[in-house]
Amino acid sequence: MAKSEQVTLPYGLKTQHIPNISEVHILWITAGLGCDGDTVSITAASQPSVEDVLLGAVPGLPKVHLHNAVLAYEVGDDFMKFFHQADRGEIDHFLLVVEGSIPNEQLSGEGYWAAMGTDPQTGRPITTNEWIDRLASKALGVVAAGTCATFGGIHAMKGNPTGCMGLADYLGWDWKSKAGLPIINVPGCPVQPDNFMETLLYVLRQLAGLAPMIPLDDALRPKWLFGMTVHQGCDRAAYYEQADFAEEYGSRKCLVKIGCWGPVVQCNVPKRGWIAGIGGCPNVGGICIGCTMPGFPDKLMPFMDEPPGARISATLIKPYGVLIRNLRRLTNSTLNKEPRWRHNQPQRTTGYHPDKPEEVYPL
Ligand code: SF4
Ligand code: SF4
Repeated sequence: MAKSEQVTLPYGLKTQHIPNISEVHILWITAGLGCDGDTVSITAASQPSVEDVLLGAVPGLPKVHLHNAVLAYEVGDDFMKFFHQADRGEIDHFLLVVEGSIPNEQLSGEGYWAAMGTDPQTGRPITTNEWIDRLASKALGVVAAGTCATFGGIHAMKGNPTGCMGLADYLGWDWKSKAGLPIINVPGCPVQPDNFMETLLYVLRQLAGLAPMIPLDDALRPKWLFGMTVHQGCDRAAYYEQADFAEEYGSRKCLVKIGCWGPVVQCNVPKRGWIAGIGGCPNVGGICIGCTMPGFPDKLMPFMDEPPGARISATLIKPYGVLIRNLRRLTNSTLNKEPRWRHNQPQRTTGYHPDKPEEVYPL
């Protein structure tokens, strides 16, 4: 090639990282016992958005191919072929995402509780359990999306006929993928949009070789998202501290006496908002029902009753809260008045002494 024809690469290309894995498929099973609410929820994400991830807006990450029945272009067998390919070992790198509770098929008798696609050989539906059995061991990582897939959720309530459970109950809490990742639980009913997409982004960064092992707590939740309580991020906490409690819905005060479980629930929604910082739960007037918690919903019902612990803490804080509220009211009223030297009189009463400034502002 003549010198004049040589292509000069931009110097800045040195900053580009080639990911350890160039492509990754996301096989998303929406056929747990669920409502697809988590899939719908993530379409509202922006940090990053689904489109950002699929179009590679963040450089240095593997190219992502998403297979989710609600969002896919393909339908029927064309959609299912990726799951069969992964099962046959024809897709090297994939993440398995499960949405919805995992039913106990040992209780389903002749039929089945949940299935996706049919077996080409037998023509019989392939149960959700069977898909998990086939694919989890071949996946680089397994992610449970939403509280149903993580801990069982609403479908696993007392009295349910399916005996359903979360993914870690099904696979085992110590389960590890072939790449050494534990199950990653992103609870929420539904999952907060950016919480899920941020977790996915972290896993992609990890697969690219750009991040250490994802930090998870004992319930396998990302620590940076679920390490604080709702109460710690609620902008009504100042009302709580001053023992100023709402008696009815529609109040701007703390909702603890009308059913808010925020002080004992791990979730960042009031701090983060729902979409683009807008919305939430107790911060905008809706009691926290603890939808991210393993004990949800049974241990938090009936939702609109005052939580038992709240009665004790609200009673204990009352004398302190009332005293502090009154003292603050006094200070507040002095702060609401301007200093007396701000006037339109011929005398200067500001304390200004050109010869002795240190008397006004001692150093
Ligand atoms: S509304 Fe709930 S989360 Fe907010 S301050 Fe009151 S108890 Fe805490
Ligand atoms: S604040 Fe409470 S009800 Fe709202 S998403 Fe979080 S855990 Fe669920």
